[in-house]
Amino acid sequence: MPFSEFVRVAPELGLDRLFDYRIPEGLRGNIRLGQRLRVPWGRREILAYAVEFPRQPEVENVRDVAAVAGERPLIPPGLCQLARWMGDYYACDLAAALRTILPGPVRSHEGGGKVAWWISPVAGKKDLAAKVLQTARVQAKAWAFLQDRGGAWLNVLVRESGFGTAVWKALVDRGLAERSERRLVKDEEGPEEGWTDAGKKPELGEEQAAAMEAWEQERKKEGGGRPVLLEGVTGSGKTEIYLRALEAVLAEGKNAVVLVPEISLTPQTVARFRGRLAGQRVRLCVLHSAQTVAERRESWHEIREGRARVVIGARSALFAPLEHLGLIVVDEEHDGGYKQGESPRYHARDLAVVRGRIEGASVILGSATPSLESAHNADRDRYLRVRLRKRVDGAKLPKVHIVDLRKEERPKAGGPVMLSGVLRQALEERRKKAEQSLLLLNRRGYAPSVQCPHCGRVEECERCAVPMTYHRSVGRMKCHFCDAERPAPAVCPECQSPQLKFTGAGTERLEEAVLEALPGIRWTRMDSDSMKARGAHGKALAAFREGRTDILLGTQMIAKGLHFPRVTCVGVVGVDAALNLPDFRASERVFQLLVQVAGRAGRGEIPGEVFVQTYTPFHPAIQFARHHDVDGFREQELEYRRAHGYPPFRRAILVSFSGTSEAQTSASIRHVAERLRGLWKGKVEVPEPCAAPIARVEGKFRFQLFLLVDKVPELMADLKREALAPKWPAGMRATIDVDAQDLL
Ligand code: ADP
Ligand code: ZN
Ligand code: ZN
Repeated sequence: MPFSEFVRVAPELGLDRLFDYRIPEGLRGNIRLGQRLRVPWGRREILAYAVEFPRQPEVENVRDVAAVAGERPLIPPGLCQLARWMGDYYACDLAAALRTILPGPVRSHEGGGKVAWWISPVAGKKDLAAKVLQTARVQAKAWAFLQDRGGAWLNVLVRESGFGTAVWKALVDRGLAERSERRLVKDEEGPEEGWTDAGKKPELGEEQAAAMEAWEQERKKEGGGRPVLLEGVTGSGKTEIYLRALEAVLAEGKNAVVLVPEISLTPQTVARFRGRLAGQRVRLCVLHSAQTVAERRESWHEIREGRARVVIGARSALFAPLEHLGLIVVDEEHDGGYKQGESPRYHARDLAVVRGRIEGASVILGSATPSLESAHNADRDRYLRVRLRKRVDGAKLPKVHIVDLRKEERPKAGGPVMLSGVLRQALEERRKKAEQSLLLLNRRGYAPSVQCPHCGRVEECERCAVPMTYHRSVGRMKCHFCDAERPAPAVCPECQSPQLKFTGAGTERLEEAVLEALPGIRWTRMDSDSMKARGAHGKALAAFREGRTDILLGTQMIAKGLHFPRVTCVGVVGVDAALNLPDFRASERVFQLLVQVAGRAGRGEIPGEVFVQTYTPFHPAIQFARHHDVDGFREQELEYRRAHGYPPFRRAILVSFSGTSEAQTSASIRHVAERLRGLWKGKVEVPEPCAAPIARVEGKFRFQLFLLVDKVPELMADLKREALAPKWPAGMRATIDVDAQDLL
């Protein structure tokens, strides 16, 4: 095949455009996809990535590529293809997709990693050296030193010999020594912290063994087989399956990525992977948001060079630059955290499936409550469904009680019912037996709104159309959308009434109720306010594990992946607000959360109990969760989705406009809708745009166009051209969210 003459590059400058260059004769055949290049740019040179090899350049006068930076492509070819797919599917530019794939700390660093000069003697130069160094005594000594020492890092030579950099450089200039750029390799490749529990491997249960067998069969098929949807009840040993699958691919010399929803919230899962890998002396790289820029860069190169073969992290770990990928695991695949909230708005679970296909790697999606999207794919045999129906060691799923709050007596002091009689009693019993409890209330702060009963004034955010939440611990009102805050008022700012009413409840209020009902109880509140300090989360979990606390109460933080055998009681304090959100997935989310948090109970020998407090006890999400009936819920929910043409039967695309002028923003989105209506007549129904449920955020008015379509890619060109390409007035912004999850 003749080598291509042109290359299309994505510059590193952050421009969302691609540019063409000619490949000079001498470099032809040396440039691969993903390679980093130096290209002329005005009067200077910049770094850019090869992303395509066009037959013809788009412009006539193309300039020559100046040089190839680095011997290997910086971006592995598989990821280049993934970037392309993202660009097409998520309506973002290829350059933007590449920027997502290649972390900032890597991009902004010329050589990447820690690069240093390596100096080595040039062989067979004895005679030359004797001649030219007659008059240069210092250089002669240095040369002799280098002969003895062999190759070494420049800084090491300087330190050990006492001869400065200039001396060594002179030897290089004379052709007596060579210098090359090498990446520093960490000296210690040995065990990392926490590599303990090496090789401790339980015997697989019957269901687990069958699941492994099914996975093995599937992945032998062409291209790594179909994605496997591992649907197992909480505590059924899914993680053990991930570990076995991981061992299997590692044994074949392949590498793996493991995605977890939130790395900081899943220390136990990470520890289990570490423990298992310790036995194999395989290096694991954990990517997390608390890493410094330098650490992130270091990790990235460690992975790129194949020193770390297993990568665990949250959604962006999907872009780990591993080659020879054998397995991608997505744990808790239904979790909303896999969707990126800003452009490119990718879904890491879906991208995992795409990456698996590109690289021929097996993909395992695991959950007790799969997303309806994945479940639907399994129903249609696009994914292979593998089930674990029983808990390990025959532990029983907890009994779920529904507590009808309408029948509960209201507190005399006013305010909502926080702890029903039965829940309070259950907590009391647990304390007596030295067992533990979890209390979930998925809302932080004390009260979600503050209202004056006299004039009706509600404390609203000045910039957003939402009530502000009262945070009693700091005596302030906070906006949960823009983080604005101000002191909490003592009297109504409108009519000076001192009787402000705190409506609804958050975790601070729950904390207060727990202390009142159970004096002397030992508790920890766990939400993003109370867990701000570094390490706070780990400490709280350690205290709980060691039995130094009786109750862990908090937001969904407490629902994720924790395994505490002494937890025998879980209380869900309120779910009604979440059920009433204007979002077709509200029910699905509540169901998933309920099953997940219920799954924290009774994981040890003592059976668990769950109490769900609600004003709508007959809601399907609650009733199906009560019976752990994942199939029943799915069936009913799919019926509803089908009837309305919602995902997973169609794709949801949310076009949003936000701007400082309400009229202008509304008119612009209407105009776009009108154009699309003309273009897609008879193909796609284009509804009227409307104000977003939260109509104003950070001082900007928000409008939405909610599209339900059968196929995404062919519509994208029109959509991008009509919504994104026009130069909208200053202060106005348009976005496209494909497979939108956040509809507020
Ligand atoms: P899941 O991921 O489905 O919630 P886990 O993999 O965390 O379940 O398993 C729950 C508990 O059971 C863990 O403590 C795990 O170590 C243990 N476990 C898993 N598989 C087995 C097995 N085959 N034999 C004994 N214990 C097991
Ligand atoms: Zn008032
Ligand atoms: Zn606000």
